[in-house]
Formats: sequence, C-alpha cells, structure tokens
Amino acid sequence: MNFSKAEFILSAVEPSKFLRDGLPQIAFAGRSNVGKSSVINRLLGRKNFAHVGATPGKTSQVNYFKLDGAAYLVDLPGYGYAKVSKAERDRWGKLMESYFAAGLISLGVQIVDARHQPTADDRTMAEWFYATGCPVLIVANKLDKLKKSEIEPNLVRIRQTLCPKNEAEVIPFSAETGVGKEELIHRIHDKLHA
Ligand code: GDP
Repeated sequence: MNFSKAEFILSAVEPSKFLRDGLPQIAFAGRSNVGKSSVINRLLGRKNFAHVGATPGKTSQVNYFKLDGAAYLVDLPGYGYAKVSKAERDRWGKLMESYFAAGLISLGVQIVDARHQPTADDRTMAEWFYATGCPVLIVANKLDKLKKSEIEPNLVRIRQTLCPKNEAEVIPFSAETGVGKEELIHRIHDKLHA
C-alpha cells in the first residue's frame, strides 16, 4: 500500500455519512494541537492535506482519506481543547460514540505528545480503542522537542500510562523531522495484515 497515493474522500458530520464499504479503516485520534494533522501529512508525504493549525475544537467531523485504493485513513476530531462550548463537546461525544460503536475500526492510531505525561483524556481515548478489540499503535509525536536524555524515560512513562499491559506499541515520531515515519508505515502494514 503506497501512502503517497492518497485522496481525500469526504468529511462526515453525522453517522449516516460514515463509510461502510468494507475497506479497512485506520482511525487516527489525538488531543487538539498534538500534531495529528502534521503526522497525517508527514505519512502521506503532503504539505497541507489534513489541515494543520485548524481552530482547535471548532470542527467535529470525521475525515476520510483513501490510501492507494486499499484502506481508509480516518482522521477523527481532536479532543481536550479547553475552550470549546458544552454543545460542541456533546456533538464530539455523540459523533465519536457512533463511530466507535459502528465496529468499523481495523486499526487505531493514537497520537500523544512525547514531552508530556498522557492526559486523562488520552487514557480514556486509549480505552475506547482497546474496547473495540482492534490493534492499537501509539505515536509519541514532537520527539524533536526532547533532549536525547529525555527520550527513553518519556517513552517509558507513556507506555506505563497508556499501555501497562502491553495493549499497544509506542512509536517515537516527529512530524517536523520525519523521524519514525518508516517505522509507523511498517507497523501499520504489519497490524493490518496480522
Ligand atoms: P492537530 O490539532 O493535532 O491537528 O495539530 P497540528 O498538526 O495542527 O499541529 C499543531 C502545532 O504543532 C502546529 O504548530 C505544528 O506545526 C506543530 N507540530 C506538529 N507536529 C510537530 C512535531 O513533530 N514537532 C514540532 N516541533 N512541532 C510539531
């Protein structure tokens, strides 16, 4: 599957628009501003395919990109942005619950910030993925912002917080420099074909 052969398909703002054509769906989730759009653009080798720096929390939509005709990359709406209204948070919750309940996820990819202890929202998100039974990859993004000596302890902390029972693999990544791109693509292939 060639990740540079990607096309934008649609944005779903309600469950009736979710794609259900049987192609595997690789769902990407992450806190607002964690760099989810940047990670997706890096993977697809595009500059501004997924919209970097979109106003956080303003858009509860599920964006679909088709990868080489073989799978969908599903860009889920970001969470954890403090300044969203209750109405917007409710909309987010309903949309996400519907998507997770639809049983459409083949592989979960959760993006977290390599610098920080995962938040309570990050833990909840990981639990949602684990509950589906799908394989999960955790991408520790913004690695370029860490000193060399900080990398291993931070990765250990992320593993202990999000996957204490080895529920997922943690992949160090930088959307800025491209570190981890080949590893992530490799792992996605492995998990989809396992
Ligand atoms: P999203 O809200 O999760 O989609 O996050 P964006 O992709 O819009 O990124 C949020 C901000 O973090 C932007 O200013 C990006 O340029 C920056 N960013 C994203 N990934 C990285 C990274 O790996 N390293 C650094 N230094 N900055 C990053």
